[in-house]
This record gives sequence, C-alpha cells and structure tokens, in this order.
Amino acid sequence: MLHSLGYRFRLHNKKLPGTPDIVLPKYKTVIFVHGCFWHQHKGCRKSRRPSSNVEFWNIKLDRNIARDVGNIKDLEKLNWNSLIVWQCELKDEEGLREKLISELQLSNK
Ligand SMILES: [Zn+2]
Repeated sequence: MLHSLGYRFRLHNKKLPGTPDIVLPKYKTVIFVHGCFWHQHKGCRKSRRPSSNVEFWNIKLDRNIARDVGNIKDLEKLNWNSLIVWQCELKDEEGLREKLISELQLSNK
C-alpha cells in the first residue's frame, strides 16, 4: 500500500529503538505494525485479557505496553515520529490508506 501511495521505505531497521517494522527516512517516520492483543490496542475487543492466569498476563502485557511507550520516547529523542498501525486496522484498506496519508502529511511539516 505504501508503495502504491508513492512512499519509499525500508523494513525492520534494527538500529532504531524497538526495531520498527517500516521506516520512512524522508518523513523521519517509523511505522510499527502491532498485534492488538500483544500490544494492548486500547478499546479494541481483540485486546481483552485472558480470564485465567490473570497475574501472569497482566505482568506480561503491562511490560509490553511499557516497552512500546519507551521505544516511542526513545525515537522522539532521536527526532523520529512514530505511527502505530493496529492489526485490526489492516482489514479496512480504505481507512488505513487515509490514516497513512494524513499521518505522513503531518509528520512532513
Ligand atoms: Zn485492534
């Protein structure tokens, strides 16, 4: 989709915090494609926590959230803008296209 929109990008840059899935150097923007459960997409039904082993999952998922927040902060310090695309958004191609266009325009200013 990014290609069809004319954006140039690279995949999985291990030199940047969090190893972003997609890097757009020209826009100083990285994109993380996040699973709704593992990264706890707020308000998404796919992010509901299991009702068994509650403590285990709370620790694990809270740690994932904290790590994501830390990565985004570290990227900010390096002047990179972060964009998160959620797993559930991948199904809505039109919505995703609009989100990418509007976010990338903002980060280009
Ligand atoms: Zn979701």
